[in-house]
Amino acid sequence: MRRRASPPNAVSPIIIAIANQKGGVGKTTTSVNLAASIAAAEKRVLLVDADPQGNASSGVGVKKGAVERSIYDVLIGNAPLRDTILPTPVKGLDLVPATQDLVAAELELVDEEDRALRLAHAFADLDEYDYILIDCPPSLGLLTLNALSAAHRVLVPLQCEYYALEGLTHLMATVDRVKNGLNRRLTLEGVVLTMFDGRNSLTHQVADEVKAHFRVFDTVIPRNVRLSEAPSHGVPVLLYDAQSKGAQAYLSLAREVLASNKRSGEERVQAHDRAQRAGS
Ligand code: ATP
Ligand code: MG
Repeated sequence: MRRRASPPNAVSPIIIAIANQKGGVGKTTTSVNLAASIAAAEKRVLLVDADPQGNASSGVGVKKGAVERSIYDVLIGNAPLRDTILPTPVKGLDLVPATQDLVAAELELVDEEDRALRLAHAFADLDEYDYILIDCPPSLGLLTLNALSAAHRVLVPLQCEYYALEGLTHLMATVDRVKNGLNRRLTLEGVVLTMFDGRNSLTHQVADEVKAHFRVFDTVIPRNVRLSEAPSHGVPVLLYDAQSKGAQAYLSLAREVLASNKRSGEERVQAHDRAQRAGS
């Protein structure tokens, strides 16, 4: 089952943390389906499950019992990240799985000075991927901190509910703290509105308010039953019903993410070329 993914890349991957401390807002659905949609654009993608619930892992068909080494082993220093990588049913998409024992990591790392930087260190030299997407748990604890410290961007799935903006403000304060301390390069990729119901007037009110303060993707993810059915088949929606509104929405979100990173990608290639010329 284990394999080395692909030949090395010219530049390092773009790392995106999918985070929101509120539960059930569509983080995992977004992580799995955005990862699959970016892979469908012929990019090499690593999906990292950083949630003890392991929903991203089962969402790409990895059964809990079949996991020998997981993100837990990486965080506590038992295994290099490469040794935990598993293939998925999607071409170009690999997975670092999580299982319930990840709950213990927070306690086990409590005395370690570099406890929030374990994931960032584990990603060093992982240059065979174009994108790494991290599915965060519904909290702002150590696991999410590790994801934010390792990432270039944070993408926030948001359901248009009454308290959504309050939660978002709290999350952005954490992002700012990480940015001012552990990870200067962190920026907001954008907010994606999930389970969107355009017939509900509160939805529009909340959406307008979020847009007034934050970068929001043009693509909205509608409530779509195919998106909620696909995980029980262990596949992203693209492999379950590619024509569904849910699958089409995530393809559109992937196009926006790819477009917004194209420029910085070009800058990275130029920087890499310059570094190579300087070294030769
Ligand atoms: P947690 O905080 O527990 O990790 P989460 O933020 O990862 O949750 P998901 O697991 O992605 O949220 O979604 C919560 C539930 O809503 C799941 O049952 C999922 O299948 C369903 N769901 C997510 N997005 C949609 C959608 N656009 N349409 C219909 N159902 C959806
Ligand atoms: Mg989840």
